[in-house]
Amino acid sequence: MNVPLLDLSRQHQALKDELMAAFAKTLDSGRFILGSEVEALEQETARYCQARHGIACASGSDALLLSLMAFGIGPGDEVITSPYSFFATASCIARMGAKAVFADISLRCFNLDPQDVLRKITPRTKAIIPVHLFGQSADMAPCLAVAREKGIKIIEDAAQAIGAEYRGQRVGGIGDVGCLSFFPTKNLGGLGDGGMLVTNDSALAEKLKILRLHGAKTEYNHQWLGINSRLDAIQASFLRIKLRHLDEWTEARQRNASLYIAKITAAGLADAPSGCQGCANPVPSSSGKPIILPAACQSRHVYNQFVIRTVNPSARNALRQFLQDGNIGSRVYYPVSLHQQPCFASWGYRAGDLPNSEAANQTSLALPIFPELTESQITHVVDSLAAFNWNSL
Ligand SMILES: *Cc1c(COP(=O)(O)O)cnc(C)c1O
Repeated sequence: MNVPLLDLSRQHQALKDELMAAFAKTLDSGRFILGSEVEALEQETARYCQARHGIACASGSDALLLSLMAFGIGPGDEVITSPYSFFATASCIARMGAKAVFADISLRCFNLDPQDVLRKITPRTKAIIPVHLFGQSADMAPCLAVAREKGIKIIEDAAQAIGAEYRGQRVGGIGDVGCLSFFPTKNLGGLGDGGMLVTNDSALAEKLKILRLHGAKTEYNHQWLGINSRLDAIQASFLRIKLRHLDEWTEARQRNASLYIAKITAAGLADAPSGCQGCANPVPSSSGKPIILPAACQSRHVYNQFVIRTVNPSARNALRQFLQDGNIGSRVYYPVSLHQQPCFASWGYRAGDLPNSEAANQTSLALPIFPELTESQITHVVDSLAAFNWNSL
């Protein structure tokens, strides 16, 4: 049995007639960039995220960059974020000439440890970028409290987490601004690149709309130095069709996660996930079980990825090879922490500075979780985990 890490073809096949009709409509309209389809998507996405405004742009990476531009972050400023994320979470900070100050993650849920964030606040801290990694909200309350007290901006990197909730509230609209990505592998993926900012701040929304148009408030009148970062009408029309299915896809991802947890624990390969015990508590690893399941700490986890850990790096690497030999897709998110990327060497971090992030680099493995996965495919993956020779490691 072949189990790919991700297979978008089934999802797109089911929607093919609708997507083709949307393509024809855009072709005939002659309006290809921004316009009414994009405005409709902005409103629908903002409503979905329980935020007042949506501002579409060219990618999730640009959404992050535009946020920092809007807040005037630049040389001499510090932005606290996670070292265990996609590259764009930190490159936007470098692009603005500011410094990324990395706080460590919790090994339970892979999100920022808020206590480490608090330790790293300085008078130069201008913003915090919590990442809602793998589809689960970061612990926002401690960051929001310190941000309010010190006038620090909160930029949510919600690229992997559209629809996820923190204490009953949708991510994106919790901080000052939220950044979404419509990259095809995200829970709401376009047929190409795309992104969106959501915010409850009307003045900020206006500024972001100007910044994505080269900073031109009116044509040929450039108040700010912006960039060209707009969404195509055709992507908006595709995304509007797909947004109507997002809740049903999210429920399928959650069902798949529950099946993995039930089957992996029933096979004796892992203890039941402990739930949130606080980031600072050590993850139990002495039970003798070879797999550590991801904790669901927050109220609505949308499982963009289902990421397990092994107790040591050699087990992870051998398991990945074993699954690949059996035609089961898996992937390491992320093999290298951001503080160890060569292009950020001038920030002066060293190996060992963020130990939990580095441990996750070496021991994490994402299993297939996409909505259309069948139960027999999940059973096959778990049977393969059980067939792996853990004792040889
Ligand atoms: C995908 C992703 C981004 C960037 O989104 P793009 O649309 O690919 O530019 C940023 N942050 C995280 C955590 C992501 O997963």
